[in-house]
Amino acid sequence: MAENRIDRIVIVGGGTAGWMSAAMLARALGPGVAIRLVESEAIGTVGVGEASIPQLRNFNAFLGLDEDAFLRATEGTIKLGIEFVDWLRPGHRYMHAFGPVGRPLGVTPFHHYWLDARRRGTAGEDFWAWSANALAARAGRFGRTPPHPAQPGGEPLTWAFHFDAALYARHLRAYAESRGVERIEGRVTGVDQHGETGFLRAVTLEGDRRVEGDLFIDCSGFRGLLIEEALKTGYEDWRKWLPMDSAWAVPSRDDAPPVPYTRAWARDAGWQWRIPLQHRTGNGHVFSSAWTDKDAAVRVLMDNLEGEALAEPRLLTFTTGRRKASWNRNVVALGLAAGFMEPLESTSIHLVQSGLARLLALFPDKGFDPVLTAEFNRQTADEYACIRDFLVLHYKATEREDTPFWADRRAMEIPQTLAERMALFAGPGRVFSRDEDLFKEGSWVQVLLGQGVTPAASHPMTAVVADDQVDGWLDDLSRIAARTAAALPSHAAFLDRAETRLAG
Ligand SMILES: Cc1cc2nc3c(=O)[nH]c(=O)nc-3n(C[C@H](O)[C@H](O)[C@H](O)COP(=O)(O)OP(=O)(O)OC[C@H]3O[C@@H](n4cnc5c(N)ncnc54)[C@H](O)[C@@H]3O)c2cc1C
Repeated sequence: MAENRIDRIVIVGGGTAGWMSAAMLARALGPGVAIRLVESEAIGTVGVGEASIPQLRNFNAFLGLDEDAFLRATEGTIKLGIEFVDWLRPGHRYMHAFGPVGRPLGVTPFHHYWLDARRRGTAGEDFWAWSANALAARAGRFGRTPPHPAQPGGEPLTWAFHFDAALYARHLRAYAESRGVERIEGRVTGVDQHGETGFLRAVTLEGDRRVEGDLFIDCSGFRGLLIEEALKTGYEDWRKWLPMDSAWAVPSRDDAPPVPYTRAWARDAGWQWRIPLQHRTGNGHVFSSAWTDKDAAVRVLMDNLEGEALAEPRLLTFTTGRRKASWNRNVVALGLAAGFMEPLESTSIHLVQSGLARLLALFPDKGFDPVLTAEFNRQTADEYACIRDFLVLHYKATEREDTPFWADRRAMEIPQTLAERMALFAGPGRVFSRDEDLFKEGSWVQVLLGQGVTPAASHPMTAVVADDQVDGWLDDLSRIAARTAAALPSHAAFLDRAETRLAG
């Protein structure tokens, strides 16, 4: 019924999450719904998020944003995967590349054939020789169109972006405002709640202003102004599995061409990222304050910078975990207000996107049917738990015991859900993604193998195909992957096109 339709949405917060919400809701709901966004320039944003995963392309496409214009506006570069250095043991490296590694034969996944051939001695040790993404990343190449006209259509690679999150928010703000979203500058100082139900009627701003709404989106960052401070929803703390609780971040100048992948070096009590943008390189050291102190941690960051620092390092602190319910009454929390897991696999901005998609799929009317809320919270909880397990895998499956931090990670008890997945792979080499799994089988296989979990056996169905046929097929596939990567232009040449450069 039209009179029961939600027609006023209030978004609190104008960081990446707030403007992603404003843009997507304006695009999806059209001009019939009044969307207002309240933010405070005096408070500012976290604005560190610089690495993404390929799903962001779908978000931009939904909005109708041109990809070159996006790269230009955000000083963006291409990301083909993440290279993990020193995670299994010092001196070791592997890549979690986006896109497929090899391809299945019939219903049997590729890695089983590779495991068999490797045991026979007919395939090399490098699993990533079958990933065009990994080969292109290592060679510093990127292109969008198939390099050979004779090759079947479609894009040769699977990619995401590195970008300046503050510039992205600005880009989305222009988009949202041009579609009628009203921005209100001011600090939220309180809420007006219904005395019995606790539903929010309005947020109140300094200067006795009031912004009324039917649905409130809390994008106010770590403190969760509405979801926590007003509604006391509670937080599930995951630091026993992921004890990283701090990060130093600093931009640096880089004269070398930007590589098309993120780098993550394991450090003595955490890890360090390096993310190349067009105008600067983002660096950060994520660490656990239980295992090192902040002065030592900033020295690790600064001692390992590859170029000159462009600013003073900034310290951010956080509690890994998630809000017990992201949707409570008529408040939906997104972004840091909903929870946070360290940026090892660049999942935070994606969680905003998937939360918005979920909200649209379960969009309520003014009755706020509790079954919608419950389903939203169930799916969100599952999605967070799957990502948590994927992150914990990077620490648990290691040979490292060379620092107290790594010895403790290796010995820690892990969630039962992850223990089951690791056992299923370590024995018979099987891996499955679950309902809300963001990372599909291909990602799990790469990180499991990369972190040294090698299955004891391969799938019995590989025996259906003769060994020499499998060997020939593996040869063909690796040649195609190598040819695909080699025929692409350099990443620098791709970025140097006028379409992706900011004027001047
Ligand atoms: C160290 C670190 C590294 C990260 N790296 C990545 C990465 O590589 N990839 C990735 O996807 N994500 C990453 N993230 C996460 C990413 O930065 C955030 O998920 C993303 O920026 C969304 O932040 P947000 O908009 O929720 O919060 P914020 O950026 O904190 O924005 C909060 C907004 O709320 C407003 N606000 C707060 N209180 C009030 C008030 N009282 N009144 C009015 N307005 C108010 C603020 O002004 C601001 O506009 C990283 C985070 C950290 C901490």
